[in-house]
Amino acid sequence: MIIAGGGIGGLATALTLHQIGVPCVVLEAVREVRPLGVGINLQPNAVRELCDLGFSEVDLDRVGLPAREWALVGLNGNDIYSEPRGRLAGYNWPQYAVHRGLFHVLLHEAAIQRIGSQAVRLGERVTGYRKTPGGGVCALVEHADGSTSELHGALLIGADGIHSAVRAQMHPDQPPIHWGGAVMWRGTTWGKPIRTGASFVGLGTHRHRVVFYPISHPDPQSGLSMINWIAEVTMDNSDGWQQSGWFRQVPTADFAHHFDGWVWDWLDVPALIRDADCAFENPMIDRDPVNTWQDGPVLLLGDAAHAMYPTGSNGGSQAIVDARMLGAAMVEHGVTPDALAAYDAKLCGPISQLILRNRGAGPFGLLNMVDDRCGGTFDNIDDVIPPAERTGFMAGYKAAAGFAIEALNKAAPIIPHRARVRARQAVAGGA
Ligand SMILES: Cc1cc2nc3c(=O)[nH]c(=O)nc-3n(C[C@H](O)[C@H](O)[C@H](O)COP(=O)(O)OP(=O)(O)OC[C@H]3O[C@@H](n4cnc5c(N)ncnc54)[C@H](O)[C@@H]3O)c2cc1C
Repeated sequence: MIIAGGGIGGLATALTLHQIGVPCVVLEAVREVRPLGVGINLQPNAVRELCDLGFSEVDLDRVGLPAREWALVGLNGNDIYSEPRGRLAGYNWPQYAVHRGLFHVLLHEAAIQRIGSQAVRLGERVTGYRKTPGGGVCALVEHADGSTSELHGALLIGADGIHSAVRAQMHPDQPPIHWGGAVMWRGTTWGKPIRTGASFVGLGTHRHRVVFYPISHPDPQSGLSMINWIAEVTMDNSDGWQQSGWFRQVPTADFAHHFDGWVWDWLDVPALIRDADCAFENPMIDRDPVNTWQDGPVLLLGDAAHAMYPTGSNGGSQAIVDARMLGAAMVEHGVTPDALAAYDAKLCGPISQLILRNRGAGPFGLLNMVDDRCGGTFDNIDDVIPPAERTGFMAGYKAAAGFAIEALNKAAPIIPHRARVRARQAVAGGA
């Protein structure tokens, strides 16, 4: 089997296929794996799958830390909503806040160790595919030196991210990337973790806010953790995104002025931004849902299938769950297009709904409600949104995103322990 893209989704797929006895190869466009990115959250449903893949909490503690709280705070510094996270909330598995790059390297090293040094071929960009008569598919590959070749396999999984070439061929009429007007600047700064010591805090309004959370255990000597922060402003998007590229490093002076005066006795946002090593600017983008992620022996997975706003902190988690759902479908249907169809039927509809839900602010929707009802200024949040309404709103989001506590705790494993694809099933095609 061929996997296009060795990001979080592609590597989780490779590790899953290896676990169930399906040979695979990952073609990754970059020539070198480096620990890129800042913080991401791994929700309990994804951590459960990582445990089933043989990762331990000791492994995850090396790249992040268990999250304890999720909180929204108004511009006046008053709490709007807070809830425990992970085991404290009653999940059987923790939620982890991790450094995206370090976590990615952890998956990459595991793939090389378990599958072999040829498991991930770097510097190999998939530019498209050709379905072959009689079954199977050829991935069209461009090598780092500019030469091209084709690789034949039974199935091709497009895990090549938001700018997916596989998706572009599968859906040639898809609209361009969608940008709703929010711009995010992200960075990390060493600082003292606040509240529980592992709290995710969203502060401000739905059009102007800062989000921050630690992504490392505190250094035993200094007590400082690496704090991941996202500073975000929503602007007029009628002219579209005018910068070249979707992701670029910028000086903090470019945007720090948006947060002048955001200082409370427990938080100094200008200092948080100023003390960062570097900052990355990227517009908050996603893609309009499509009606299917399958084209015969070809399937989309992770951001290639469902790039979504990060408001629900579930892009990385969903890519891991996708990989496991694909594995489960293969245990049932073999390495066949039927397995891809079963995965598509199960996930494409509900996850497409989640894309639209995250576009509508996701769990940050509570900030919209505060804005609408009192312009963001309040003494007691209970007078603005009663507790039952706040809890009900969050429960609705969590159920849609697959984080409902009881449902997850009671659910059988996505892939039963020791399940394997039987040899007879693992035919259809070549690699
Ligand atoms: C460099 C980088 C930094 C990121 N930083 C953050 C962050 O700080 N915070 C956050 O919330 N999210 C970040 N993300 C996005 C986040 O990782 C994804 O939303 C999520 O993990 C889903 O993973 P994915 O594997 O589907 O996509 P991705 O993580 O985007 O992985 C896609 C992979 O495919 C490769 N690729 C792309 N095109 C091709 C091609 N044609 N052929 C072969 N390979 C290809 C890419 O190099 C990449 O390794 C980052 C993504 C990348 C690539």
